[in-house]
Amino acid sequence: MTNNYQRIYHKLFNFYGPQNWWPADTTFEMMIGAILVQNTNWRNVEKALMNVKPYLTPERMEKLTTEELAQLIRSSGFFNIKAKRIKAFLKWFKTYDYDIATIKKLDKQTRRNELLSINGIGRETADVMLLYAFDQPMFVVDAYARRIFYRLGFNMPSAYDNFREQVEEAVPGSLQLFNEFHALLVEHAKVYCQKMPICEGCPLLEICEQR
Ligand code: SF4
Repeated sequence: MTNNYQRIYHKLFNFYGPQNWWPADTTFEMMIGAILVQNTNWRNVEKALMNVKPYLTPERMEKLTTEELAQLIRSSGFFNIKAKRIKAFLKWFKTYDYDIATIKKLDKQTRRNELLSINGIGRETADVMLLYAFDQPMFVVDAYARRIFYRLGFNMPSAYDNFREQVEEAVPGSLQLFNEFHALLVEHAKVYCQKMPICEGCPLLEICEQR
């Protein structure tokens, strides 16, 4: 039986089509992008990624000083903090010889806990990495998901993991589904369910309480 979450997913997917996320050439670039996008928009991240492109392997990036890295990622905002976060992430990644396949072999709770123990990697960043870099089906809770579900009329738990688990239990989905679900919610928040929503023509209008 289709539940409300599945309905939302299908309506968004039918309307926007596959999003094929994450926009990155390599898994390493994806993970760096996940840190750079904290508290900023993707346009600013793209500029930072362009600047840092010649160093987009862990071995090359490791050789940059924190200050050099900060200057390269300046356009992403909070660049000194983000440079330190990337350095902390690289330090952790190096303990696995920068090998994604080895990290994928860890059990999923250990992998998540390790990411969360890195300075500056919170739940949202960790879960985005788990989903798009380590192929772990996760529902990512972000401000867009909160906004959309609230307006639709859902009473979602305020605690991050309770919110995430509620959706994951209702949508026992594949990696592909969760990959698309997060991307579709981001797209929907940008196109229709903006800060000031454009409800006319919205694909969710008929099931939305428009709170
Ligand atoms: S109908 Fe309006 S409030 Fe509801 S999801 Fe669509 S844009 Fe958002």
